[in-house]
Amino acid sequence: MKKTQPSSATPSSTAKPGKTPKPSKPAKKAPRSPAANAPVRVAVIGAGMAGVACARTLAQAGCHVTLLEKSRGYGGRMSTRQTEFGGFDHGAQYFTARDARFQKALQTTPDVVRPWSANTVRVLDALGHVLASTPPAREPHFVAKPGMNALVRTWSEPLADAKHPLAPVQGASVKLNTRVVRIARDPIHPDQWQLHTEDATTEGAQAVLGGFDRVLLAIPHMQTLDLLRASGLEKGSTGAMVKAIKNVTVAPCWTLMLAFPQAMQPGLPHLGPQWNAARSTHHRISWLAREGSKPGRDPIERWTVQASPAWSAEHLEDREDRVVAKLRKAFSEVTGIRAEPTHAVAHRWRYAQTQTPLGQTHLWAGDMGIGVCGDWCLGHRVEDAFISGLELALATLG
Ligand SMILES: Cc1cc2nc3c(=O)[nH]c(=O)nc-3n(C[C@H](O)[C@H](O)[C@H](O)COP(=O)(O)OP(=O)(O)OC[C@H]3O[C@@H](n4cnc5c(N)ncnc54)[C@H](O)[C@@H]3O)c2cc1C
Repeated sequence: MKKTQPSSATPSSTAKPGKTPKPSKPAKKAPRSPAANAPVRVAVIGAGMAGVACARTLAQAGCHVTLLEKSRGYGGRMSTRQTEFGGFDHGAQYFTARDARFQKALQTTPDVVRPWSANTVRVLDALGHVLASTPPAREPHFVAKPGMNALVRTWSEPLADAKHPLAPVQGASVKLNTRVVRIARDPIHPDQWQLHTEDATTEGAQAVLGGFDRVLLAIPHMQTLDLLRASGLEKGSTGAMVKAIKNVTVAPCWTLMLAFPQAMQPGLPHLGPQWNAARSTHHRISWLAREGSKPGRDPIERWTVQASPAWSAEHLEDREDRVVAKLRKAFSEVTGIRAEPTHAVAHRWRYAQTQTPLGQTHLWAGDMGIGVCGDWCLGHRVEDAFISGLELALATLG
């Protein structure tokens, strides 16, 4: 895809730690140069499933893509927490694939996408007893190997590595540890955008990246609202976006990670129940999974436990140690495991599961060159994030 404007998505200015870059002043319209063959330059903010699905589609279509991510790794809520006892998929547990486009994309990385036997998933009553009427699994469940984050990371590799066999012809780049704090008009080329960023590795370090024709936000709905507001984009077509996004609601989730390396002793294959994963109706816990039951995982006995949306909301601001204690107690009640874990850590997801989605795949303000996507547009599943990112990319190309 070619554009009619010159651009350079390289840092247009940087500021030393502690110094704020100069705010962009309204600038006179810059003269157009004749670089008619330059690719459209797109910034995609957020390297979760939606952002990477969007970025790779645009790169494949000939755009020059810059992917920016505030964390040090890929995956967002499809992340894997590494510990000395093995990894924990502390966000998404598995995914399903109903849309043919998602199924096709998954087929491009068969070594990474592995089926995970849904037969292991049980439904428990409030006391932890397996309900006799556990419904049969209707569709295949998949996980990424060796951890859930591997899928998004693998799909990002051609964008991050110019020597990758699938690296896009027009070039691309990935900037990790880079939080976008403001979107502003480029003072030199006012029909382009620049991004004000903070470096997560160096306190106070800021930079401005310029020369983007389009800016696409692939971040949770509340962070989308914050960024649009911080950028003064609350009027016109982006103002209509803000209005629509305000209706979205997303529930939190406290997640507990437990490791029992003592269960690796000879003659003690694992602790607790015979099932590997379960939905629970316990008032504190809604889901439990034995990490080692997933393909390609370390065998050390590890459990990921999700608190229910209601309990998570009620205890959202509790101290982590209190949350760990309460969820451990509930875990013992449900599984019968009373052993002391060597590792017990809780993670708070403020925006975990969409309750009220936007109701459309994405929002695209074509007159501004600004778009938004994310699972929250459609629902609360990995596949929703993929479809949303893909549809936004197609809309910007259209
Ligand atoms: C506890 C939990 C359990 C889940 N279980 C399942 C499940 O079993 N099955 C399923 O299908 N789905 C599940 N989900 C949902 C699934 O994880 C999400 O639908 C999907 O991962 C969302 O992808 P996304 O790209 O829309 O957003 P995210 O994954 O949130 O990605 C957004 C990215 O943007 C980055 N970012 C945010 N702000 C900025 C900024 N200003 N600058 C730069 N980067 C920024 C974030 O760091 C993040 O990496 C679960 C989610 C949670 C939290």
